[in-house]
Amino acid sequence: MIPNTGMNADYRPLIYIISAPSGSGKSTLVNELLKLVPNLDFSISYTTRDLRGSEQNGKQYHFVTREEFEQMIRNDEFLEHASVFGNYYGTARRFLQEAAEKKHDLLLDIDVQGAEQMKRKLPEAVSIFVLPPDRKTLEWRLRKRSEDAEEVIARRLVTATREIGNYDKYDYILINDDLEESIESLQSIVLSERLLRSGRPLSPEEHKTVQQAGPHRLANVRDRVGPILASFRDHAHSARS
Ligand code: ADP
Ligand code: 5GP
Repeated sequence: MIPNTGMNADYRPLIYIISAPSGSGKSTLVNELLKLVPNLDFSISYTTRDLRGSEQNGKQYHFVTREEFEQMIRNDEFLEHASVFGNYYGTARRFLQEAAEKKHDLLLDIDVQGAEQMKRKLPEAVSIFVLPPDRKTLEWRLRKRSEDAEEVIARRLVTATREIGNYDKYDYILINDDLEESIESLQSIVLSERLLRSGRPLSPEEHKTVQQAGPHRLANVRDRVGPILASFRDHAHSARS
């Protein structure tokens, strides 16, 4: 039985939650991670927002109408759901069930509200917050992606300033500066949690993986996060004055 989910399963999937302000590089990191880590499934959320660019229904998201989403809420089909930028987003229970049947772990790309709901339901879930190196870099990455209009970029930056204040609710913080290094760090976080939970003695190589993840634990990043938060705060102050 998986507690708080009403599900029966022999295997209890490890759940990894990843959140980040838009433009931090989360999708890039997640795509690379899924190529590197075996038996890790991506939970394809349901959303009521419109398809963007090259997205395909059933790949990045299941795109549904508000009526369909609300019916799913009434049917208790979601583990968590939230309203983000005026649209519904939710994680379907059936993904956890399917991962359990395959003896796979599950990766959830969800926002701060969803992460809080999941942690309340499944406290053993591993949560990771991705931060940009500073505000200027985030702004540059949002422009580089050239997916959004100027006013959308401005709104994302305001939202980011609010969201990053929640970093200390997460188990791990990943500062996405150098992409290759960040991919390696994310992989070590995911693998080290698997190793630690296996409860078996670890080989020297496996110990190394656990050690690589250590610097990204919340307790070990506070000094590095301070200047990042300051870059957002300082900008908000200068914009007001
Ligand atoms: P998110 O999913 O967090 O909104 P994306 O993965 O779409 O962000 O990344 C935003 C932009 O930044 C993309 O153009 C991506 O290629 C780029 N990017 C991601 N990580 C890095 C990095 N470490 N260094 C430089 N550019 C990056
Ligand atoms: P986007 O529309 O840019 O793909 O995503 C917007 C935000 O919604 C991101 O922060 C993303 O993590 C979040 N999100 C995506 N799927 C879910 C979900 O199932 N639940 C919750 N709570 N948030 C989600």
